[in-house]
Amino acid sequence: MSALRMVILGRQGSGKGTQSLRICEAHGCIHVSTGDMLRSAVAQGTELGLQASKIMDAGGLVSDEIMNGIVAERFSHSDISEHGVLLDGFPRTVDQANALERILGSLSQDLRIALNLDVPIEIVTQRMLDRRREDDTPEAIRRRLELYETQTAPLLDWFTSRDLLSTIDGVGTEDEVFARIDAAIGARS
Ligand code: AMP
Repeated sequence: MSALRMVILGRQGSGKGTQSLRICEAHGCIHVSTGDMLRSAVAQGTELGLQASKIMDAGGLVSDEIMNGIVAERFSHSDISEHGVLLDGFPRTVDQANALERILGSLSQDLRIALNLDVPIEIVTQRMLDRRREDDTPEAIRRRLELYETQTAPLLDWFTSRDLLSTIDGVGTEDEVFARIDAAIGARS
């Protein structure tokens, strides 16, 4: 079976992280979360971490140039070509989506599906306030959701125009949502 390459989109707090782990467990793909990569750079105090931490705390977006470089570097590792990948948190802008297309093109790889985990704004706001991560101040939450609408929502059109988008109702139990996601992936296999 050829390696599955997928993207998962959804507002912060939509359950993307949890579902991503389940998807990768079921399909054997590598979970690449740019948020996790940045948080680990912050924890290690690397140059990248120092640059990113203020932006992340304020709920802003790290520059496309930096993010595209991080992802291109990650794709150069052979585990992704062998096992496939689920990108979580990237692309977040149309510029990043274009970069992803270039990266995949240069590796002669293609994307199977972009999963859009749809959870209404009121529900994700409450979930984020409940989970109380350090960078989840009410102001940062508001900013991230606003950025999602302006920067990331246009990606839905981008993926639709390439016939890759599957929108999944993200409201329900973890098992219910996972079953919907798995059906969507199965429908494209
Ligand atoms: P996440 O865990 O995906 O919610 O990411 C946490 C934070 O990392 C975001 O609020 C951004 O500040 C930053 N970040 C993660 N991925 C990206 C990306 N693809 N582009 C820009 N910033 C990102």
